[in-house]
Parts: sequence; structure tokens; C-alpha cells
Amino acid sequence: MCISPNEEEASHRKAVIDRLTAKYRKALEKELRISGVTYDDIEEMAQKIGEDTKRSIEDESIQSQGCGYEGTRVTCPGCQAIGRYRGRRARHVISLSGFHRIERSYYYCGLCHRGWCPLDRDLDLPISSEATRRVRALSARFSSYLPYRLAAQELSEVCGVELSATALQGYAKVIGEQVEREWARQTHLASERKVRPSCEYPDKLQMSMDGVMIFVDNDWREAKVGAAYPLNADAEAQTKQARYYATLERSSIFGKRMQVLAHQAGSDHCCKLGVVGDGADWIWIESGKYWPRSVQSLDFRHLGEHLWKVAKLRFGEGSAAASEWIEQQEAYLMEDKAESVLASVQSWRPRKPEKIEERRKLIAYMLEHKKRIRYKSIKEAGYQIGSGVIEAANKTVVQARMKGAGMRWSFKGAQVMLHLCAARHSKGFENFIPYAI
Ligand SMILES: [Zn+2]
Repeated sequence: MCISPNEEEASHRKAVIDRLTAKYRKALEKELRISGVTYDDIEEMAQKIGEDTKRSIEDESIQSQGCGYEGTRVTCPGCQAIGRYRGRRARHVISLSGFHRIERSYYYCGLCHRGWCPLDRDLDLPISSEATRRVRALSARFSSYLPYRLAAQELSEVCGVELSATALQGYAKVIGEQVEREWARQTHLASERKVRPSCEYPDKLQMSMDGVMIFVDNDWREAKVGAAYPLNADAEAQTKQARYYATLERSSIFGKRMQVLAHQAGSDHCCKLGVVGDGADWIWIESGKYWPRSVQSLDFRHLGEHLWKVAKLRFGEGSAAASEWIEQQEAYLMEDKAESVLASVQSWRPRKPEKIEERRKLIAYMLEHKKRIRYKSIKEAGYQIGSGVIEAANKTVVQARMKGAGMRWSFKGAQVMLHLCAARHSKGFENFIPYAI
């Protein structure tokens, strides 16, 4: 009797299911206890049986692929000459269910001196790594929370996957670089006006940017951080809906990426856009390039810091007069009366050079940002005059991972980590699996 390929496959599949069911039954018979157990016992038992079952499914499924034997002579995928069978080679794969040994048929081409295993191609196994895509993606995720050594410990504790800190660092690097490439690709598409429409439709969109110093290559460097988020939500929802970008690159590159970030957050479907930032020139240069019609605001707290410097020098540190003066100036600012604040500062005539300089700086600062400190109008238009989102991002996206005790970063290492941290915090990010190439 002749058996069709479909029947053969069905019978093979049935045999695998039978073997797996038998293993599952055996595990249940060994582990399952139904009397005299606490919830902790039940949980531990379910965990153990589940882990064993997952591992069996993986092992059986891999074994049922065979070893990729395609005959003694096959066409070389590199040069199309004839490659010869050279026996079996074992390799190891670390998956979420642990360590697996896989036997594969090995072929070698004498013409181009290339060796290969067809099973690696069939299973889409990585060429240079032992870990599966999921494990590498998780490694990058854990590494974006914790230093590599601790991340390796947590990965072992939480997922039962044993990897070295160096392996984690390697996976995080590859994935971070891939995220970076994706940013470059999106930026290129945006420059060619070929970027796909976003899926977001915010009523109003707020952009926020800031700089944070981190220690890179034995020096302090500024990491630029940007966030884009809809304004039709409360503060907590804004943080949840925010998308982030962080980099050590120069501001012109940062600006281009921010244009992509704004697009992802729905700037193509929204003409009401606000930008909030401190006094750093690059923020306003880049905003002017990409969102010339946006409502710009100088972070209220930053201006407040400048006012306080003058108040302390003019009225004395900790004095009631200083606090009263600040209160009055802030009230003026909230009524769009920046000229009253300016008049008050200009009426001060200090003699000491230090005080003269501080007075000059504040006046220049206020004049430079004149249109950005009309806080009443900006608030009434529904935009922010300060950004809790970017302030939180400085800490959570950048400092939490980049500024730990004794942490040293190379430029490249810091760059890939900033990409991982910003992606992980961003809305729409699910996991790093698509980047684990
Ligand atoms: Zn060849």
C-alpha cells in the first residue's frame, strides 16, 4: 500500500503528540499531589510540571525536524558547486526552556571552503549566537533596567535562563544597534517624505526636550532627551502615552529624530503642537526647523531658577523679601506681564560685578525668550508651561540606567543603551523581538 506525504506527516505528528502526552502524564503522575497541599505547593507543582512540559515540547519538536540530512552531495548555497556531507555536528541552543543540544548534518564545499548545516537554515537559528531570539530580546530588556551582571542574575532568577553578563552585553549591543538603524531608516524615509501615516490622532501634541549630563569616555557629555505625548489626558496618562528618544548625537541629528518621534505620536494628524524646553539654544533651533508654527514655552521652573538667583542677591538668601518678590514676579508672569518683571529687575541697580552680571543675564534671558514666557496665553491655549513628562524621563529613561554608582560608558555603549531605554519606555513598544536579528 502506498502512503501519501500528507498521511505520513499526520502519522509522524500523531507519534509526536503520543510521546508528548505520555511524558505529560508521567510528569503529572510524579509531581501531582491533591491532598494536604498549600497554595504555595500547588503553585510550585504547576510551575514544575509546566516547565517540564514546555521543555518536552521544544525537544520533541526539534527532534521531529530530523538533522537536516539532504544526501551525500548537495549544491553549495555560496558558489553553487557540489558540497559534501561530512557527518554530524552538535550545537547548543539556549531557549526560554533552557539548554538544548541539537545534532545537525554538516556539509562542506571544497571550492569556496564553506561549511553549513541545512537544519540551521530550516530552524532559522542565529549564526553567531547560542540564544534564541526571545532570549536575546529579554536579555536586552533586562539589561535596559539593570547593569549587565545584575541583569544576568535576574534573568536566571526570573526566567531560569543562565547567561553571562558578557553575553547579555553582546545581545543588548546588537539589539540597540538595530534600534538605532531603524531610527536612521525612519529618518531617511521622513526626509524623502515616504514615511507611512501614523496611527495616532491627538487633539493636541506636546513636544518636550531636555539635556542630561552623563559620564562617557571619561568625560561628562550631554544626552539629549525628547518626548512627544498627547495633551488630551491627565498627567499619568501623558507619561503612559509618551514616546521617547535619547541620544548623545549632535542636536541636528536629534532634531531629525524628534521629527520622526512627533510623526509617530500623530503630528501628521494634528496641527496643534506645543514645544516646552529650557533655555538651551539647540532646543529652539531644532523646534524652529521642524515645527515653526508650534506654541513654544520656556519651562516655568527654569525661569524661576533664574529669578531666584537674582532674588537672593538682591534681597538676601532666605529673606522674606526675596520670597515676596518671587511671589510677585510669578504672579506677573502668570498674567502675561513679563514687562513688569523686567521693569522690576531693571529698577535694581547693584554695584558688585557679580550682581551686575546676574542682573544682565536674567534680562537677556527674558528678552530672548519673550514670546515663550506668556504663560497665561500659553496655558489658555491648552499647552504646557513645564513638563513633568520630560523631567521624569530624565530620571527614568536616562539617569536610572546611565548614572549608577561607578558606571562607565563608552560613546557607543551609551548610545545603544539610550536607544534601549527610550524604546522600552515608549508607547507602542511591546518587546525587542523584532530587533533581535
Ligand atoms: Zn561553495
